[in-house]
Amino acid sequence: MPRKITPETFAAQAGGSIDKETGAIVAPIHITTTFERAPDLSYPKGLIYARPDNPTVAQAEGVITALEHGEKTLLFGSGMAAAVSLFLSLPKPAHIIAPTVMYWSLRNWLATEAAKFGIEATFIDTTDTDLVARTVRPGETKLVWLEVPANPLWQISDIAAVAAIANWAGAALAVDSTCATPVLTRPLKLGADVVMHSATKYLNGHSDVIAGSLTFADGASDLCTAAVKLRGQHGNILGPFEAAMLLRGMRTLHVRVAQQCQTAMTLAAALKDHSRIAEVLYPGLVGSPGHALATKQMTGGFGGMLSIRIASGEAAAIAAAARLHVWKRATSLGGVESLIEHRASIEGPGTPCPPDLLRLSVGLESVDDLLADLDQALIGNT
Ligand SMILES: *Cc1c(COP(=O)(O)O)cnc(C)c1O
Repeated sequence: MPRKITPETFAAQAGGSIDKETGAIVAPIHITTTFERAPDLSYPKGLIYARPDNPTVAQAEGVITALEHGEKTLLFGSGMAAAVSLFLSLPKPAHIIAPTVMYWSLRNWLATEAAKFGIEATFIDTTDTDLVARTVRPGETKLVWLEVPANPLWQISDIAAVAAIANWAGAALAVDSTCATPVLTRPLKLGADVVMHSATKYLNGHSDVIAGSLTFADGASDLCTAAVKLRGQHGNILGPFEAAMLLRGMRTLHVRVAQQCQTAMTLAAALKDHSRIAEVLYPGLVGSPGHALATKQMTGGFGGMLSIRIASGEAAAIAAAARLHVWKRATSLGGVESLIEHRASIEGPGTPCPPDLLRLSVGLESVDDLLADLDQALIGNT
């Protein structure tokens, strides 16, 4: 009996399954919408119709389940679809606690749409564990939502401490772990009930698939059952071609993330003393507010995301971004190409993001090229 393989090996082999018909190392893409019934009307393979179930999607789900040490994963057509489906799966009325600083579109949904569905959202600084304890309402709070590290300031909430509070209050804890990736943090092992990913980002890693996932812990079966039902009804499951792309992307997840962490750390260290930069936000920097907790909670690095605040303000930040060549100005993150974004202008009014901030998603280019490009762009501000 071989010893139990690690998630790293599992991901590299896309679950390790060899196609039984052909011996193919890379599984075929199942595009069928429907599955044959037996003469007695049963479904011998357990598959009925592709709105609830697809074998290619299931293969990708199996890899994410192994990476997250979960019980079951559901893939959706986007990260937003995954997160909103979880919110809609909660018993109503539902009070949700969410971070003030979190992925902006999701925060917007909670702030402006959720009430129509019997959901009341309270936004707080979830890095303040005592504040979470004071805000949670036993019996009423159905979900505590964390994002770690939190976009775009990269604050670190204490997943294990918040899990204990949520558990005490009878609420589920879900963590948007998109930027940590399963390589750097395993929220379910820290007591969370659900992990969400925008698989559009690091899991796929090549900026060519929109996808999202929910992975449920062993004990979160009620929520999982509700989400399975909802996805089957709404049909917001990932398509098989996207699932196959995602499977390919995840084969290199560990090496990509390891390199991105290393490059991000080098950039953060080099930029923190740059004359045109007021502050570098990166949990890997000693002295950053989340550093001690991140050291305890994360393994193998501090992620490929960092933000810089430009000393002379918003106009200088936008001008610096305009002078870049290697870095591409675009939203999104977690791809092999480095992206930079002026977050405040895309988030719009009411954003907690400072106007002088540029968000950096570190790709796989040479660190020397990335640094030289940033340096010339920053120095251009005379
Ligand atoms: C991109 C992103 C989302 C939303 O995912 P989509 O796949 O774009 O719908 C949610 N959370 C975080 C942290 C993200 O970066």
